[in-house]
Amino acid sequence: MFNLILFGPPGSGKGTQSGKLVEKYGFVHLSTGNLLREEIANRTPLGLEAKNFLDKGQLVPDEVVIGMIDSCLEHHRQVPGFLFDGFPRTAPQAQALDKLLSLRKTEILLVLALDVTEEELIKRLLNRGKTSGRSDDTNEAVIHQRFTVYKNETAPIAEHYKKLKRFQLVKGEGTVDEIFDSLCQAIDKRMRSLAS
Ligand code: AMP
Repeated sequence: MFNLILFGPPGSGKGTQSGKLVEKYGFVHLSTGNLLREEIANRTPLGLEAKNFLDKGQLVPDEVVIGMIDSCLEHHRQVPGFLFDGFPRTAPQAQALDKLLSLRKTEILLVLALDVTEEELIKRLLNRGKTSGRSDDTNEAVIHQRFTVYKNETAPIAEHYKKLKRFQLVKGEGTVDEIFDSLCQAIDKRMRSLAS
């Protein structure tokens, strides 16, 4: 199984690129943001609890998202691999993911981090907010809150994957296809190195 994390701040293009990667490689896409928005749309108890966090640009408690990932892993036993998008976002989530994968005799083989300037991120998010229907994309204060959370809680977990030599920065600016090509090159290289 080839398990990959697409890493990067809000607005760096993780969702867009995930769609293309899933189509090309057949990965199962696990986006905690999408899963949470689905719960909210279905007005489940979990969704009602999560909504307050999403609206404020804060993280949903670790145990909630870890539980969601655990049940998704359980539902997809025989797959080419998982593409994690927006997860893990905290150190406890990264530890839990390692554990959940090792219980299933697998691991994260590559972390690709999309590198985009903050100025470009804000432009993209406000633009996306015009059509996405996501309230957390229209309010500039909430966008800034999400960046702060990213810097304090999420960015530091890159160190864990750097130590394992599984972390790679990819230029996240340019056309969608250019960025996709860079991601594919990194994935193909890693797949080749595992095969040899
Ligand atoms: P995203 O679609 O990945 O930008 O996520 C949107 C919002 O969902 C975030 O601002 C958080 O409130 C929540 N969320 C998504 N993934 C996680 C996660 N791994 N841990 C905690 N909260 C999350």
